[in-house]
Amino acid sequence: MTPPPVPQGRVVIENAALATVDTEGTEHSSGHLVVHGDRIESLGPGPAPAGLTDVRRRVDGTGHLLTPGLVNTHHHFYQWLTRGLATDHKLFDWLVALYPTWARIDEPMVRAAARGSLAMMARGGVTCAMDHHYIYPRGAGDLSGALVGAALDLGVRFTLARGSMDRGTSDGGLPPDFAVEALDEALAATEETVDRFHDTAFGAMTHVAVAPCSPFSVSTELMRQGAELARRKGVRLHTHGSETREEAAFCRELFGMGPTDYFASTGWLGEDVWMAHCVHMDDADIAAFARSGTGVAHCPSSNARLAAGIARVPDLLAAGVPVGLGVDGTASNESGELHTELRNAVLVARLGPHREAALTARQSLRLATAGGARVLGRQDEIGSLEPGKLADLVLWRLDTLAHSTIADPVAALVLGAPAPVTLSLVGGRPVVEHGRLVHADEDLVAREARDEAGRLAALMG
Ligand SMILES: [Zn+2]
Repeated sequence: MTPPPVPQGRVVIENAALATVDTEGTEHSSGHLVVHGDRIESLGPGPAPAGLTDVRRRVDGTGHLLTPGLVNTHHHFYQWLTRGLATDHKLFDWLVALYPTWARIDEPMVRAAARGSLAMMARGGVTCAMDHHYIYPRGAGDLSGALVGAALDLGVRFTLARGSMDRGTSDGGLPPDFAVEALDEALAATEETVDRFHDTAFGAMTHVAVAPCSPFSVSTELMRQGAELARRKGVRLHTHGSETREEAAFCRELFGMGPTDYFASTGWLGEDVWMAHCVHMDDADIAAFARSGTGVAHCPSSNARLAAGIARVPDLLAAGVPVGLGVDGTASNESGELHTELRNAVLVARLGPHREAALTARQSLRLATAGGARVLGRQDEIGSLEPGKLADLVLWRLDTLAHSTIADPVAALVLGAPAPVTLSLVGGRPVVEHGRLVHADEDLVAREARDEAGRLAALMG
């Protein structure tokens, strides 16, 4: 699968409000940005400089806010086919209810689910997505190829976190034995996925991470050897951690320590690691994450949907822990788009002990852009509007009924209704134009996903 060619010429965007999310948080109430090829060439207040040559497109951003593209740091695309099931369960009961269905997925289902998940996110301003895929039924086909292909087709930058599970119920784990892989099989397949898809170039469309699923579904040996594999290959590590009280109790009973100490003991703290959730962390856990540079994918909607709890995001940020936002799988967040996470990150944090000082709208936008880029190890390429970075950006329309009276454009984006995307670019290439996907027919994506969801449901009788 080859990445698309770098576009030629310049794109000039003018008259929009700009929130650059650079280190200083620079904003312009009316400014310009120039894209050259796949990079941001220049930006600033007022109109673009006169005399620019080779301009292939000019965009009038009046009534709009221009931001970096949103970065999603945790997801499970296949769950697009099992939304709205087990809606009143907490995590372990929800997993046990859904594992048997998930263990029946195959390549066409995963492709349709990935297209649905990616289409929903791209439409909502995501330009860099990730998928933590950890169910590989025997004979299901080329699932990793389907996932990578779907992202390339839609034009979205992508990290495939090649997941795995090898601790079935007979080994004290939560998933049924028929849903897990053997240790050696999982490691070999993960290595093959890295070799096949991981692109080390600046501006790569595809990264691969090593991603055993969670302490309660993975053997200690797979955690250890997975970390070794990732470091030998120079790729990042991802897993679920400290999501629920039940997980903490599981770790104490089986390993004699809490989740963070268990991760430390298996090589899973470090600058190359990011973990989903991290809800149940004490001060020592947060300090260990900060010291090691371990990142967090904060998923407020999923944490609420599964009654997991409120992550200590203000404390994580104060300690210097890298934090991004995540949709999580759509079986625990049926909305499937990242806007709810920007909004809920603020609202949920303010229900915690820090109250109104917990998180601002601007901090939330930073989590969803620069924070996510750092968590995915791509802070030099994406996450802020700065000359030399990739032209991954979104022009949000804020002059319609939903937003026209909200005084502050960043508050409008984060706290208001989901804003329509007039234009999003990934590496200078349009992915969304006037709310529609450029590279896919949204109605067809919806139909295909519905058909594959129906086929999966029929397999279950
Ligand atoms: Zn998850």
